[in-house]
Amino acid sequence: ASNPSDAPVLIIGLGRFGAAAASKLERLGREVLVVDTDAALVQKWSGVATHAVQADAGDIDALRQVGAQDFSIAIVAIGASLEASVLATSNLAELGVPQIWAKAMSHSHGVILQRIGAHHVIYPEAESGDRIAHLVSGQVLDFI
Ligand code: ATP
Repeated sequence: ASNPSDAPVLIIGLGRFGAAAASKLERLGREVLVVDTDAALVQKWSGVATHAVQADAGDIDALRQVGAQDFSIAIVAIGASLEASVLATSNLAELGVPQIWAKAMSHSHGVILQRIGAHHVIYPEAESGDRIAHLVSGQVLDFI
């Protein structure tokens, strides 16, 4: 786990974002532990993901039980609930996870995540909107 290019990755939340990240990492051959409070989702993923565990990332003891403190990389893929996102991120920071990536729904959400210990904040909607604008404007230029 000392080599970041093959260190196992902890993913909190199996929504569209977390599920896409988990699938891709697995296809890249990375070991992945996915954690979600939703038993049905965990069940669905347990045949696919390296490890899938039902746990509440807002509960630091539950995170300890799944061994979150042993991961060098974690992704907080919770967006809809600001409280759940903030709790999961601050718990991972408290456990000393050295590389925390967290998804934010807004700029202020991102600012809070950074202040409580996220090392990288991702804004999926804003970033893909920005990217599509680049693609579209490139396409327009190609037609001129
Ligand atoms: P997406 O846009 O990626 O589909 P989202 O931004 O709507 O997702 P949420 O629905 O808030 O994100 O959460 C994604 C997943 O995180 C859900 O499957 C949810 O069950 C899980 N989740 C929410 N809170 C917690 C928590 N405290 N611990 C673990 N998993 C959680």
